[in-house]
Amino acid sequence: AKHLGGNTLQFFTDGLRTSSLEKLQMEHELRKALSSGQLEVFYQPRLDLHSKRIEAVEALVRWRHPEHGLIAPGQFIDLAEETGLIIPLGEQVLRQACQQTHQWRQAGEADLRVSVNLSVKQLRQGNFVSLVRQVLEETGLAPERLELELTESQLLDDIDNAINICRQLRALGVQLAIDDFGTGYSSLSYLKRFPVNYVKIDRSFISELDLTDEGAAIARAIIAMVHALGLKAVAEGVEIQAQMDFLAAQGCDEVQGYLLCKPVEAARLLEFIRAHGLL
Ligand code: C2E
Ligand code: CA
Ligand code: CA
Ligand code: CA
Repeated sequence: AKHLGGNTLQFFTDGLRTSSLEKLQMEHELRKALSSGQLEVFYQPRLDLHSKRIEAVEALVRWRHPEHGLIAPGQFIDLAEETGLIIPLGEQVLRQACQQTHQWRQAGEADLRVSVNLSVKQLRQGNFVSLVRQVLEETGLAPERLELELTESQLLDDIDNAINICRQLRALGVQLAIDDFGTGYSSLSYLKRFPVNYVKIDRSFISELDLTDEGAAIARAIIAMVHALGLKAVAEGVEIQAQMDFLAAQGCDEVQGYLLCKPVEAARLLEFIRAHGLL
């Protein structure tokens, strides 16, 4: 097993080279993981640059495999999408994330918003909005404390349905974000059609902004555009202080990245927040 930077191990072979037998085995293992509670939600803090506090965390799934240890989502999300297992997986992540976030608040530990990644397959389920409503009721989390992230390509895939469901989710009080912004082909006019609150600027723009004048100009333009639409800009993949300083100077609203903290298990997230006095 090869180390994947930090806390995850590469166990399964690269997607392209995976044989159909390996895929079948892995699908079987993933089903087992879903039924025996091996999927665990990690959390990565998002720093609000105005209040200088951690006001939100992103929920990122990990597979705690009994033999192979911690497996990163890059190793199994595609297969989950292909097999439809992303639907029960997404539901487990949503429930765990809402439960945990509500529990932190109940215990007086932290009052956070949690953002959960969605697959467009979940949106296409007829009953997704009622599932979200039900999970909020069951866990007690206030709707404003839940944010749902969708990539622009997923939104554009089935635009009318996506807009319709986004409207219903907003009516529930849930916040919405466009993830990986800038990696698709969407234009400003498309963006305007989605009733979202946050735009998460893809890491590829952040990693270049301190290297070239063009990189800085692009990041500045995206932030200005997001603000012109009345939305909040979140920068992903902030790894060095110079990037953070630039983003703060440009009025970017939130930052997320290894500079601050990598995704960590629930207990470690609380330790991080306590140690840094960020709440
Ligand atoms: P994403 O939604 O774009 O999540 C951000 C990814 O960037 C995470 O990888 C995070 O660990 C990583 N990251 C954060 N800060 C930095 C940084 O400063 N530098 C670098 N190089 N990377 C950083 P992770 O956790 O491996 O997740 C990968 C992708 O898997 C996610 O990308 C998301 O598309 C998908 N994913 C994760 N959890 C879920 C889930 O519950 N449901 C669905 N549908 N997809 C998920
Ligand atoms: Ca995300
Ligand atoms: Ca992203
Ligand atoms: Ca992504």
